[in-house]
Amino acid sequence: MSRFLIRNRGFTLIELMIVVAIIGILASIALPKFAELLRKSKEGQTKGNLGSLRSMLSIYYSEMEGLYPTNVWQQNSSVLNSLIPKYASSIPRIEVGPYHASTAEVFCHQVDDLAHDGTGWGYQGATNYPTDGNVGKLWIMCTHTDTKGSAWNGY
Ligand SMILES: [Zn+2]
Repeated sequence: MSRFLIRNRGFTLIELMIVVAIIGILASIALPKFAELLRKSKEGQTKGNLGSLRSMLSIYYSEMEGLYPTNVWQQNSSVLNSLIPKYASSIPRIEVGPYHASTAEVFCHQVDDLAHDGTGWGYQGATNYPTDGNVGKLWIMCTHTDTKGSAWNGY
């Protein structure tokens, strides 16, 4: 105990090295946990946005008496912009990191399309392909899995 009372002693090199090593070990534990938490929060946000957009489409459908927003097949388009500003101030974003960059793009396509991984929201709103029974369907165009191991396009 008495050695801690000696003034101006300072730390020895070995003590400093131990402290730095402990900080390093703590950081190596905390940083991946933090990254994981960040990813999970973005996943939750993306799933929430999917639910919101689907709700908006339902309300739009009933207010338009049986019509969904439509556009030409296979166009990266502003097809869902008819939801703005009445139902949303902007199209919400998809965050499916680490696979793809954050995007609010909407890709008008068929539901079973797996070829456009990471394009954004998939939306079957095609005026020239209305007979597949899926018009108005919205999904996340990503075949990768979330932290729970479920494919994004399965939600
Ligand atoms: Zn993907």
